[in-house]
Amino acid sequence: MRTFRMGGIHPPECKLGAGKPISVMPLPKQGCVLLSQHIGAPAQPVVERGAMVKTGQLLAKAGGFVSANIHSPFTGKVAKIADVVDASGYPKPAIFIDVQDDEWEEGIDLTETLVRECKLEPKEIVQKIADAGIVGMGGACFPTQVKLTPPPGKVADILIINGVECEPYLTADHRLMVEKAQEIVVGIRLLMKALNVKKAVIGIESNKPDAIEILSHQTIPYPEIEVMPLQMHYPQGGEKQLIDAVTRRQVKSGGLPVDVGAVVQNVGTVYAVYEAVQKNKPLIERVVSVTGKSLKQPVNVKARIGTPISSLIDAAGGLPENGAKVISGGPMMGKALANIDAPVAKGTSGVLIIDEAEALRRPVSDCIRCAKCVDACPMGLEPYLLSALSERQLWDRTEKENIMDCIECGCCTFTCPANRPLLDYIRIGKGKTGALIRARKAK
Ligand code: SF4
Ligand code: SF4
Repeated sequence: MRTFRMGGIHPPECKLGAGKPISVMPLPKQGCVLLSQHIGAPAQPVVERGAMVKTGQLLAKAGGFVSANIHSPFTGKVAKIADVVDASGYPKPAIFIDVQDDEWEEGIDLTETLVRECKLEPKEIVQKIADAGIVGMGGACFPTQVKLTPPPGKVADILIINGVECEPYLTADHRLMVEKAQEIVVGIRLLMKALNVKKAVIGIESNKPDAIEILSHQTIPYPEIEVMPLQMHYPQGGEKQLIDAVTRRQVKSGGLPVDVGAVVQNVGTVYAVYEAVQKNKPLIERVVSVTGKSLKQPVNVKARIGTPISSLIDAAGGLPENGAKVISGGPMMGKALANIDAPVAKGTSGVLIIDEAEALRRPVSDCIRCAKCVDACPMGLEPYLLSALSERQLWDRTEKENIMDCIECGCCTFTCPANRPLLDYIRIGKGKTGALIRARKAK
């Protein structure tokens, strides 16, 4: 079975919610919709305080080419447009809606009927995806229409669907593949048409045999779509790692997947594309895994964007007494939540509660120069060096040592026998180095 070739680790998987069907979250009393849920410019509000809005109505328009529309996940009254502390702990502008009902905009097909046929031209498909505010739902939140519009001179020849879900604990993509396989296959065919590619590969790690079986069955009529089981190997869900595993092509430092002819889309994004193009449904809800060993009942829920994360935790039996830390995302790449009432965003793939024993940081000792972090790095970096340079604030050196290539996978920290917080320092270094590079380019 294939996998990527450089670095990587095998963390314990703990997929507690793998067998839990997706349930639907009730609507909150008040929803809070962030204006920036994507990479790029924030969206610009097109509604004012006091306005009545319907579910699916445009709330904010994309603020540039790299940006995304935001739609109302609720029916009700715009209570205010103000800052909210988001999952990262920083205040961000958001539209607060007092939820009154659930009356959808006209023209949105809410039936479960599968719609296979699509007579739209490639450009019209891309436009519908842009109109619906679709972004990469694996966590990166890159506006999907931008990925479907390769820069001049670049041509894609393969679409790779990311069904890897290699983060321990998370199961939302797994459940979506099992429960919405037919819709995902239609979504893949729409994306192939939009990109004008003749080949698609769905990469799924071998710990999801049911998803592999269902999608293999659903793709029998479409030989141009291949289901490729992959070895379990973290971080195989990283774009560059997945491209290597599937095609053996290597994206260079600073390069884009399309440089090697590949476009990668997450299965959640593909499902959202199906709903946008075939059902006229904008991206206003998503599947979230709510999980952790100390939770009463780990769940996979379909929640409206803007629902408080605390109510998702309630749906999983409430915050356990020994719940020391709430993490947005998985244990490897997720970030500790500063505010558990922060709203669900388009990129919220999971909520993980870890107990005191799991949250405990082991004592840090001096680097013993074992190079385990170097062996584990899937980007070919030298994590011990990047961390030391960041600690000493040597930003010209961090740039030369390619700190911006770090995908923040955490493999280095995971393997370090001295328990050094390598990624913590590298993240700081990446932030500073990136800001300096942007400032230089702006001159
Ligand atoms: S340096 Fe970055 S890419 Fe390399 S292992 Fe550490 S977190 Fe992952
Ligand atoms: S794994 Fe830890 S101890 Fe080993 S070289 Fe890297 S930083 Fe040093």
